[in-house]
Amino acid sequence: MNTCPVYRRSGGHSYNAVVPGPIGSILEPARDPAKHASLPHACTLCGSCSDVCPVKINIHEQLLIWRRELAQQKLLPFTKRVAMTLTSALFQRPRLYALAGRMGRMALRVLPRFMVYNRFNPWGRQRELPPAPPQSFRELYQIRHGR
Ligand code: SF4
Repeated sequence: MNTCPVYRRSGGHSYNAVVPGPIGSILEPARDPAKHASLPHACTLCGSCSDVCPVKINIHEQLLIWRRELAQQKLLPFTKRVAMTLTSALFQRPRLYALAGRMGRMALRVLPRFMVYNRFNPWGRQRELPPAPPQSFRELYQIRHGR
């Protein structure tokens, strides 16, 4: 738990689980999948917990497996299911992905504040987005490396 970038900031018992931290995130959904379906998603999949585990438990891989399992059990919120379906379709079409990125960066520059920070953007309640960059990472890479 002390190596986890999520739990280092949120604290051990912030997710309403008896066993805190990454270990709890793989144990609690087994005990009550419906109640703890969000736990495996509170993870960046960075693998730091697996790296420091003295008995080499593949925690981050188990968290990924839990995500698939919970999705198959239809325990994800409707909005997340729709968002994941749309994101999957976007990731399979590189040109559309690049176009969506350009439109998103432009929208962040021109949209009035209330259209970005509203009740449909729960992250925006406590966080400000950084200014939209003029180029995507891919465009910067092409400029610097000529590919
Ligand atoms: S893989 Fe997930 S649970 Fe493990 S340290 Fe990284 S963020 Fe935390």
